Amino acid sequence: MAARIIDGKTTAAGLLAELKEKVEAFGKTGRTPGLAVVLVGNDPASAVYVRAKARQTVEAGMRSFEHRLPEDVSQDQLMRLVETLNHDFAVDGILVQLPLPPHIDAAALLSAVDPAKDVDGFHPINAGRLATGDARALTPCTPLGCIHLLKCVEADLTGAHALVIGRSNIVGKPLGQLLLGENCTVTIAHSRTRDVAELCRAADIVIAATGQPEMVRGDWIKRGALVIDVGIHRIAANNGHRVIGDVAFDEVRDRAGAITPVPGGVGPMTIAYLLQNTLKAARQRSGVAAI
Ligand code: NDP
Repeated sequence: MAARIIDGKTTAAGLLAELKEKVEAFGKTGRTPGLAVVLVGNDPASAVYVRAKARQTVEAGMRSFEHRLPEDVSQDQLMRLVETLNHDFAVDGILVQLPLPPHIDAAALLSAVDPAKDVDGFHPINAGRLATGDARALTPCTPLGCIHLLKCVEADLTGAHALVIGRSNIVGKPLGQLLLGENCTVTIAHSRTRDVAELCRAADIVIAATGQPEMVRGDWIKRGALVIDVGIHRIAANNGHRVIGDVAFDEVRDRAGAITPVPGGVGPMTIAYLLQNTLKAARQRSGVAAI
C-alpha cells in the first residue's frame, strides 16, 4: 500500500491561523511581536525566503523589520547591527539569514544575538537549554516542524527507534534532542557512519537531513516506517527546475507508512515555527504566560 502523504502545507496553514489568533490575544497586552531579518548579499534563494518570511510575518499580525546589507559588509558593521537590534524594544526576534559570505564569522555573529531574541535557536544558550530540557529554550524551527509532522501521524512516539541522518547544529543535533524528549530511542548518522542503509532498515522513523539528493532509497526503509525528508534541492528539469529532497520519494512511498513530500512537507513548517518562536520570545520578554 502506498504511504500516507504528510501534508506540510496544510498543516502549516492551520498552525499560522491559530498563531494569528494568539498574536491578537497577545496584542491585548499593548504589544505587537516584531521579527527582524538580516539579509547579506544577493543570493536569490535567500532573497526568496526572506520575502516569504516577511509576508507571512505580517499576515500573522506581527511586525516585520528587514535589514539588507551588501555582500562586502564587514563583521564589525554586522555586529553593530545585531547589537542595535538586541536593544530595540520593538524587536522580539532576530534572524540572520544563512548562508553568510565567507569573510563573515557566522558563529561569532550568531552568538552575538541576544538569546532571548534568538528565534532560530542557534545560540549556545538555547542549544544548552534544549539539551537540558529547559522550557525557555528557543528551539530550531525545522526540527520543531519535523516533530509536529511526525505527531500528525503518531501522536505518541514513545519507544520508536528514530534514525536521524545528518548531525548539523541546525537540523540533526536539535532533532536528536527533540526525539529524545518524545521518548524515542535515537540514532544519529553522518558521513562517517558505517552502513547507513542497514541502520535505516531497523528504524521506525527516518529523518533525512543530509544535503544529498535522493540519498535514501526504497530498499532502505522498513515497511510502515515514518519518513521525514528535510532536504531541498533545486535541479534542472525540462525548461525550468524541479525541487527534490534527500529521499527517493517514488521508491520510498511504496514501503513507508507515511512520508513528507518535497516541496510541501517540512519547508512550510519551518516558517510557521519561526513565527511561533517569535511569539514565544515576545511572551517571554513581556513576562506573559501562554494565552
Ligand atoms: P549540513 O550540510 O550542515 O549537514 C549535512 C549533514 O549530513 C552532515 O552532518 C553530514 O555529515 C551528513 N551527511 C552528508 N552526506 C552524508 C552521507 N552520505 N551519509 C550520511 N550522512 C551524510 O546540512 P543541513 O543540516 O543544514 O541541511 C540538510 C538538508 O536540509 C539540506 O538539503 C538543506 O537544504 C535542507 N534544509 C531544509 C530546511 C527546510 O526548511 N526544509 C531547513 C534547513 C535545511 P558530516 O557531519 O559528517 O559532514
